[in-house]
Amino acid sequence: MNQRQLDLPGMLVEAGITEVECTEEEASNALKRGELHVHMNGAVPAATIREILADEGTSLPHGYCFQRDMVRLAPCRSLAEYLTPWQVLRLFPKKQANLDRLTLAVFGSLAENQVAFVELRSSVLYLATLQGCSPAQALERLIESTGEAARRHGIRRGLILTVTRGDYGAVGLATLLQAFEELGRPKDVVGLDLAGDEEMSYAAELPSMFRDAKDHLGLGITIHAGETGRAENVRSAVELFHADRIGHGTAAGKDPDLMDLLAERRICVEVCPISNRLTGAVPPNEAHPLQEFRRHGVPFVICSDNPAIHQRGLADDQTAAMAEGLSICDMQQQYEIAKHYSFMEGLI
Ligand SMILES: [Zn+2]
Repeated sequence: MNQRQLDLPGMLVEAGITEVECTEEEASNALKRGELHVHMNGAVPAATIREILADEGTSLPHGYCFQRDMVRLAPCRSLAEYLTPWQVLRLFPKKQANLDRLTLAVFGSLAENQVAFVELRSSVLYLATLQGCSPAQALERLIESTGEAARRHGIRRGLILTVTRGDYGAVGLATLLQAFEELGRPKDVVGLDLAGDEEMSYAAELPSMFRDAKDHLGLGITIHAGETGRAENVRSAVELFHADRIGHGTAAGKDPDLMDLLAERRICVEVCPISNRLTGAVPPNEAHPLQEFRRHGVPFVICSDNPAIHQRGLADDQTAAMAEGLSICDMQQQYEIAKHYSFMEGLI
């Protein structure tokens, strides 16, 4: 193992956690998990990616080394370096059968982590481009494919549609919402997510479009914000986008007023401890802000973000959260917290 790789057992020993004692009931509760922040293409096992690339005759970009570039195991120098796997993750699945192969593998990994319900996020517009179909058809395929995979693994699932920051964010969201309407507002779609480069600006109308979708379509809102140190993005996620949840939000840990705002409005932070260390959102020499969140009464839920890229799972993220200072008692509450802040009302 590379010395710079995250050493979870070592981190636990350092945090003084060597042995965990709990009752059988507590242990079985601790085993059941809810996942609120996981990207579908970051959750596809490497073996499945290889199979699909081979089946679709897709070659890797020039100079790309699958073994080196497809996983992120050690803290990266930049978010761009962390995102290297997406150079390949954006190239598939071109065939509908491979979407099914992919979703089955994703839900298989979730089942291995005792995930009872998941809100899976995905970029439907990429899927439409890859499969040469309309956004509504791509959304329909995604609903069918994830629904069948979830059913086979006994997992309840909702879908979150991801919109990318930047100049085309508003156009992308309008296209997604049109597809959602065309399909008769399927219950499978439970929320909207804004992701992508936090340094990028977005169209002025984007926040009101998110608010409208929340108020008129009943969709939950989660915004990736404060991952790259920009606390003001967390504030605008709350005040402009009316976010129900914040993805990462690590920058808020240094802003007591902002933490008070999150606590007062009961806005849940989706904390992804392994991802936060690998992306550098939390530098190696700093404590993870989740202890600050707890002190300020900010609700948070532990999530995995891109588990296959980390070669880990939600269980490992919960272990990492304990290494960052959470107790076994905190962990036992996680399932109920995830349920409380889930957008899957009536589905779980
Ligand atoms: Zn994310």
